[in-house]
Amino acid sequence: MIQYLLFDLDNTLYSARYGLERNVDRRIIAYMASYLGLSLEEAAKQRREGIKFYGTTLEWLRNEKGLSDVEAYYAATHPEGEADTLPPNPMLRSFLESLPLPRAILTNSPREHVDRILNKLEIPEDLFTHIFDIRRNGFKGKPNAEVFYQVLAVLGTKPETTLFIDDYPPYMEGYLALGGKGLLLDEENAYPDYPHPRIRELWELTSYLK
Ligand SMILES: [Mg+2]
Repeated sequence: MIQYLLFDLDNTLYSARYGLERNVDRRIIAYMASYLGLSLEEAAKQRREGIKFYGTTLEWLRNEKGLSDVEAYYAATHPEGEADTLPPNPMLRSFLESLPLPRAILTNSPREHVDRILNKLEIPEDLFTHIFDIRRNGFKGKPNAEVFYQVLAVLGTKPETTLFIDDYPPYMEGYLALGGKGLLLDEENAYPDYPHPRIRELWELTSYLK
């Protein structure tokens, strides 16, 4: 029996087609290139390799590349106005309001990013009981098991009764490995062979609330 809904934010509560996350990626690579003195191509390549063992680029840069100014990193990668192209989504708001269970957000982004997105979507923050951002999680990101366990402890719930919805398979796999219930949101049908529950649109999650 599902008792709690735990949502990812980016490309889950709004569509990937707005390109917001692509822009964040571009800014991360530009920041890395400047910080490490690399070309953009080389920075992108090193990032692809480096983040294999981490949930976020920041964790990799802090652990292996000596990055200490986390706030400068966030200021560069999540500038004011980053969400300005996102339109309001009244349908999403009604949908969230109609769900009969408490809801929370778990994101590897910083809180200011969450606030901008919710503000642009016109989704009131109080539709969620908690917002777990990367700072609140001690700069540890999904799919770290510790992060999921910390979040569930705060929510007072368990993996098997908490439905997690995320668009990124490695994060979902991390949660499923804990015995969690999860839905991969695969808007573009990018993962047709994904072996676990998968939805194409957020609305489909209601079929899994048993
Ligand atoms: Mg996402």
